[in-house]
Amino acid sequence: MPIVGVLALQGAFNAHAQALRQLNVEVREVRLPHDLDGLDGVVLPGGESTTMSQLLLSSGIFDVLTERITDGLPVLGTCAGLILLSQRVLDARPDQVSCSVLDVTVRRNGYGRQIDSFEADIDVMGLDTPFTAVFIRAPLIEEVGSGVEILASHNGAAVAVASQNILAASFHPELTSDVRFHELFLHMISSGSSASSGR
Ligand code: GLN
Repeated sequence: MPIVGVLALQGAFNAHAQALRQLNVEVREVRLPHDLDGLDGVVLPGGESTTMSQLLLSSGIFDVLTERITDGLPVLGTCAGLILLSQRVLDARPDQVSCSVLDVTVRRNGYGRQIDSFEADIDVMGLDTPFTAVFIRAPLIEEVGSGVEILASHNGAAVAVASQNILAASFHPELTSDVRFHELFLHMISSGSSASSGR
């Protein structure tokens, strides 16, 4: 049974834990640096990336987390979690930190106020039927580096991407009862490579 950590400093971590438990994963809430020891994967949930950034620093998790991901620990980042992985973050507070491991440019709240939250059925590479994606004050992926694979797009913008040990989405796959996106992450963990490889 894989052990997957869910960063539990702030935000929608409980729903991720529930989705993973449904898939027979041992879930560990990550609140301190040593909670990252011995994990097979880690999830950075949605929430408020500014607050999470501050808590990552004050808890001492930030440096250890960045090092583990750089060393190949599989990570799933959703919404604010995507922001915390991105190399370039627009409209962020100047003191907001990012692990800077995913070669994309994201704009915080980039979908605009009038459509702060919406749902869309999207095609995701690796899934046979559309996935209902829930966007809540979502970051907009504005640029994707050449080594990053786009797994899903919506209105011309990438909304799910993969790069080596990193899987990220601008939406919240944990907020529906459909656990297939988490299954893609578990596949990444068990195959030791990117989510859509091997097909
Ligand atoms: N707007 C939030 C941020 O920038 C992300 C929203 C979310 O995770 N649902 O941190």
